[in-house]
Amino acid sequence: MKKKDKVIIFDTTLRDGEQAPGASMNEQQKLDVAFAMERLGVDIIEAGFPVISDGDFNSVKLVARNIKKSTVCGLARSMKKDIDAAAESLEPARQKRIHVFLATSKIHMEHKLRKNMDEILKMAVDAVKYARKKFDNIEFSPEDASRTDREFLFRILEAVINAGATTVNIPDTVGYSIPSEYGQLIMDIRNNVPNINKAVISVHCHDDLGLSVANSLAAVKNGARQVECTINGIGERAGNASMEEIVMSLKTRSDYYQCATGIKTKEICRVSRIVSKYTGFVVAPNKAIVGHNAFRHEAGIHQDGVLKERSTYEIMKPEDVGFFGTGLVLGKHSGRHAFKDRLKKLGFALKEADVDQAFDRFKSVADKKKQVFDEDLIAIVEDEVQITENTWTLDKLRALSGTDIKSDVEVVLSSDGKSYTMKHSGDGPIDACYKAIESIVKLKGQLIDYSIHSVTKGKDALGEVTVKVKFKDRIVISQGASTDIVEASAKAYIHAINKVISLDSFSRAKKKSVKKE
Ligand code: MN
Repeated sequence: MKKKDKVIIFDTTLRDGEQAPGASMNEQQKLDVAFAMERLGVDIIEAGFPVISDGDFNSVKLVARNIKKSTVCGLARSMKKDIDAAAESLEPARQKRIHVFLATSKIHMEHKLRKNMDEILKMAVDAVKYARKKFDNIEFSPEDASRTDREFLFRILEAVINAGATTVNIPDTVGYSIPSEYGQLIMDIRNNVPNINKAVISVHCHDDLGLSVANSLAAVKNGARQVECTINGIGERAGNASMEEIVMSLKTRSDYYQCATGIKTKEICRVSRIVSKYTGFVVAPNKAIVGHNAFRHEAGIHQDGVLKERSTYEIMKPEDVGFFGTGLVLGKHSGRHAFKDRLKKLGFALKEADVDQAFDRFKSVADKKKQVFDEDLIAIVEDEVQITENTWTLDKLRALSGTDIKSDVEVVLSSDGKSYTMKHSGDGPIDACYKAIESIVKLKGQLIDYSIHSVTKGKDALGEVTVKVKFKDRIVISQGASTDIVEASAKAYIHAINKVISLDSFSRAKKKSVKKE
């Protein structure tokens, strides 16, 4: 059998994905996502745009310092200060790449950059040459390539490869291309750029017309060997090409593409869930590969077929993408060892102290709820792991509410080993609870969105609350889980507060919090 060509997976969830309105993650979350990417087998992680802000600079540096197996990449405009910032933030990386870009379409050159073709060409070459002094691994992107004059595109690609670019990326920046045309563009580049075999051809597609995955695959069929994508397809506007769809298309139809990736597909659902949780971008139930219904057969004829022979209606196995089963896993008599073992199987590698904390939580959930499913365990662990040092923790909560009384809630929170108690009444137990929390932490948030869903079936199921809260000019999204919905709501709100405190401008607000007890 012919050996399959490798397609390099370049993930830009932390850069383009994070540019999606409202998707911003904090440093720790970005690092968690990067670790998940490394486990997933991503070849290159684009960790951010270092020159753009101190936050971006620091998180790229943090990822660079911690990631060992994947190459870490930073984005830069074709300017010295951008390249310098990228070089500095990527300094600790074991394997690093710089991604330099410059717009080349007529519309961008004229209106955005106000430069002519020769000036643009020189800028690109100068930038790549300058980057070459600090990097061996250089990617160049002619931004808006799909709308760039063909002859000019060939010329600039040849020039940047001569200057030292090792990957040339062809972005469909505005999601304008269609598959046959975009595939042809890749073929034309191969046939018209004389030194093209000295570089890898990469593609970067957007989903404005819902064609980002189709365009990326057409490019692979025509010789592109790197695909830029994001988990769950998040990104600017309608988003980027979805990694899970690209990877599973290449795998499921390897007979057609004759290509393979280094992705460990069993990790896909886990990473999808982490990204969804951290960004607050819910995955649609009918989303390919990772949607809740992606492997559910409803029609009787289909169910009958699948029971007799799975391949009648299934082109992929749910377990191949790490789709969670709902089999009974643990109960209240399960021990710490079984619990830890199950977590490991679900892909969590927790520190002993975190296992203890999560196990205590599991025991109390198992007491209230007879059957603890995989989804419950994931919710418990993710809920516990959000609690880090120097933040607020919910110790106790007592709620009184009814149809004929005003709700009263008492909460006990702790921070830095000190305990604070507050009682508040309100319009319903959640309003009362949030008011009590706010008066302890001395931060006032505006609740923009609140939703609750049950993690599994049954009246005793864990409820998972998601809140979107605005603190001054910052919006944060967080979750809390419990069999008690008031408690889950309190936790979600406290997690939001912890998140906002961890962002710099609020660090002082915490110190001024009330001293009570
Ligand atoms: Mn993009």
